[in-house]
Amino acid sequence: MQIINPATEEIIDSLEMDVQESLMAKLETLKEGQRSWSNQPLAHRLKCITRFGELVQENTAELAAIMTAETGKPIQQSINEIQGAQNRIDHLNKYAEQYLADEVLSEQAPIDEKITYEPLGVIVNISAWNFPYNVGYNIFLYALVAGNAVLYKPSEYASLTGKQFEKYLWLAGIPKNVFQCVIGAKEVGQCLLSLDVQGYFFTGSYATGREIAKTVAHKLLPVQLELGGKDPLYVMDDIQDIKLNAINAAEGAFYNNGQSCCAVERIYVAANIYDSFVEAFVNEVKTYEIGDPTNMNTFIGPLTRKQQLKVLDTQVQDAISKGAELKCGGKMLDGDGYFYEPTVLVNTNHAMKIMQEESFGPIVGIQKVANDEEAIELMLDTEYGLTAAVFSNSYDRAAEVLKKMNTGTVYWNCCDRVSPELPWSGRKNSGFGSTLSSQGIRAFVQPKAHHMKKA
Ligand code: NAD
Repeated sequence: MQIINPATEEIIDSLEMDVQESLMAKLETLKEGQRSWSNQPLAHRLKCITRFGELVQENTAELAAIMTAETGKPIQQSINEIQGAQNRIDHLNKYAEQYLADEVLSEQAPIDEKITYEPLGVIVNISAWNFPYNVGYNIFLYALVAGNAVLYKPSEYASLTGKQFEKYLWLAGIPKNVFQCVIGAKEVGQCLLSLDVQGYFFTGSYATGREIAKTVAHKLLPVQLELGGKDPLYVMDDIQDIKLNAINAAEGAFYNNGQSCCAVERIYVAANIYDSFVEAFVNEVKTYEIGDPTNMNTFIGPLTRKQQLKVLDTQVQDAISKGAELKCGGKMLDGDGYFYEPTVLVNTNHAMKIMQEESFGPIVGIQKVANDEEAIELMLDTEYGLTAAVFSNSYDRAAEVLKKMNTGTVYWNCCDRVSPELPWSGRKNSGFGSTLSSQGIRAFVQPKAHHMKKA
């Protein structure tokens, strides 16, 4: 499998892809390893994960360069992601014991009752490329700490990074027969679905997630899907500092080139501040440095996937043909690399693809709303349910809106944010099941109820 640098279009490496036989062999070794791994004390498993975190932090510069080369993520953002993902390890060290320990519920004769939490076994993790550390750690580190073995398939666009995970997990003391990386794209992912494993944990698009859920349904296994979004932000008429709110909104839309599951993808703005907000927002976007992702000052690099250029262009042209006004951007950059200009469209409406379909790129639509009721109606008009945000000076007003959102996450005066303390989960086409928080620790174990009566 060739690895292409999306900024230069050069082939930077090639990796041998897995085939059915190699997958079977990896699975057999994991089945063997999982038994002894789950018998290790939790403290040992946490120690290995902690060491892994230290090794990753020590090698941040090299790892960031690898991620930037294969995904096009601006280098500063690669460093941010690697350093930030450490908070998952801190979270596990703080809470794993509490949520994996036996729960004794009654010790009153004649029947003692308790719950124990047992690992699932060997689990498959099929992952995405946009935040390989964040979304990878959410699954494989939590699964390993809970005593599972992991067959991890990074995205074909982040395979070099996936191989680094394998290298450093092994170096940190995780046995080779407890974590194995799988190399390949869709076809290899499909092969994983026929294996005899005990759970599927997927991060990626709605289309693939639905396909996976359908294919493995007959196995009656735990399946968890972290999928896409079309996340709205509503800017209320009472915000104090229009410029600051516009800067924050733009960052929520354009960080990582808009390639975040929880990127702000549609913005609704109260009529009385609409013009000033749009002006401040566009001014901010025009300051973004676009270009070579290895440059520390670059904020917008290339898209990771070439085919997404066409998706973005179709959405932009569709919006313009239906009456939207292009404020900036609107086209690919000439020359090498998959660059698309940061693009702002205003006067959008819900007949336009840009307000309905996931863009996953540096484009955003802004629409004027008359009041909270109209904003709520538009925010809810989506097949997705990942996050929703409100910027407002009033907690009470924002809370009223957020209460009505059918999303796994809501934000007040912030957006595009994940915390290991809180569950990360989608609703509707954004998936089901939670990573992170106590729920994300328990996602990788199964409860056993003990009814213990002395003879
Ligand atoms: P994708 O669905 O194209 O691919 C994801 C993974 O699935 C890859 O490893 C791919 O090789 C594999 N795959 C593809 N087809 C398959 C099949 N038929 N069977 C088995 N495996 C298959 O998604 P992507 O482009 O890697 O990621 C972008 C998407 O992920 C966006 O929609 C984004 O919103 C979403 N995402 C969601 C979250 C979240 O936490 N909710 C986080 C990151 C990304």
